[in-house]
Amino acid sequence: MSSKKRKVLDDLEQPGRRSQVAPASQQSLNVAASDDAHFRHLYDRELDFKQLAEKDVDFAAVLQENGHLDFTEPKAVMQLTKTLLSLDFNLKLELPDDRLCPPVPNRHNYILWLKGLVDTSSYEPPGRPACGLDIGTGASCIYPLLGTTQRPSWRFVATDIDEKSLQYARRNVALNHLEDRITVLGRQPEDTLIPLRGRESEKVIHIDFTMMNPPFYESEDDMLSSAQSKVRPPHSACTGAPVEMVCEGGEIAHISRMLEESLVLKEEVQWYTSMLGKASSVETLVDKLKANGIDNYAITEFIQGNKTRRWALGWSFGPMRPAEHVARVKTSGWKKVSPPVLAIEVLSLHPGRSIDHAITRINEVMRSLELLSWNWDTDARKGTGRTRENVWSRASRRKKMRDQSTSFSVLSSAAPRSDPVQCRLGFDVAVEMGVSTTTVTVHWREGHDAVMFESLAGFLQGKLKNLG
Ligand code: SAH
Repeated sequence: MSSKKRKVLDDLEQPGRRSQVAPASQQSLNVAASDDAHFRHLYDRELDFKQLAEKDVDFAAVLQENGHLDFTEPKAVMQLTKTLLSLDFNLKLELPDDRLCPPVPNRHNYILWLKGLVDTSSYEPPGRPACGLDIGTGASCIYPLLGTTQRPSWRFVATDIDEKSLQYARRNVALNHLEDRITVLGRQPEDTLIPLRGRESEKVIHIDFTMMNPPFYESEDDMLSSAQSKVRPPHSACTGAPVEMVCEGGEIAHISRMLEESLVLKEEVQWYTSMLGKASSVETLVDKLKANGIDNYAITEFIQGNKTRRWALGWSFGPMRPAEHVARVKTSGWKKVSPPVLAIEVLSLHPGRSIDHAITRINEVMRSLELLSWNWDTDARKGTGRTRENVWSRASRRKKMRDQSTSFSVLSSAAPRSDPVQCRLGFDVAVEMGVSTTTVTVHWREGHDAVMFESLAGFLQGKLKNLG
């Protein structure tokens, strides 16, 4: 590939200044909320190159006298990646000159989103053990390195089809002493993307989520025209070999392969996810999900500065739903492709109104229903309920009254229930205190029935309305 072509591979944007907080390696390995907050906000602001240069002599050596970094200079770009990995994650990296040099903030964004996806789609506390599959890990093996650093209970299987990248990926895993938590697996182009079937599937026991940064482009021309259509000129020297950037059918074909495999594996993997380089691909793929009856999915947008945008899409066949902020894009224009609403505000308390009163009322209402379970967490000001059916509709409550009046005969003549109790809807009711107002919000946690979720929120809204 010509150097000109290489220069258009501008998926490198480096916003955000390094946080003042100590590197992860100096913090405890528990998933404390403070750790997560540290990582979440690492690249919120512009990078401060001068500060980086003060902390790392190798970075100082590539920084220009005027304090700028030459993004067309591969050496400088590579050093920035190494410096950020070292200072922010205590990770070491070795890369060849002719493979993709991953921009850390973008790759970190994907990991942050996955943490939210895995954490919120479970009743377990944040940080549950999980095994991720990174399809096409590249020479850097960057996702497994970032993921295992932030989540002590995560493991990874990392695959690639490119021998040189595999060699470097293994070296980077060893450099960071992560061999017991990251397995690097060579694949053939015709193998399944998810190695739970077919060749060498015996080496992979379980996968909770997949991730992929697919070759975005259908051809080198496609890649060039995409770069030229950008308002700003490409200004990075993010080098990539053709195997990394181009594949037949581009990202849609690659992600469609994952979708086909997921239709066979279904709930064997909780989340199937991929990064996307084109907004139009998100729409196409969401249509494909819907055509296959998949209603539980999540979309996010990674904004890096005001230049490059990337998206990620995840889908699940399981009933556990991710949080609203993880699954739905806030920026305009995304309503049509976004999954159904996952959080509905049912009460806004005026300042001065008693929160205790609202909490008592929520608990009274929930306990009056025949739910499978209802548990109130006093510290978190949040309750979790599960139900096998709509038990709040008028018809359902009338039936309950009738049953109660004949309970003796029902009890004495009823055969023991043999059918397993199915949960149709799981939800949280949370009292959330903002700066000026306090709200009560119902969050959809489990199930596939959006109408039932909305009906519950409507019912609760009615029951709480005189508290506002
Ligand atoms: N994950 C890295 C590299 C992404 S480039 C990063 O984000 O920086 C895409 C990678 O996918 C390349 O390393 C390429 O070799 C690999 N790849 C392409 N087809 C593949 C396949 N069928 N199975 C596994 N990896 C594949």
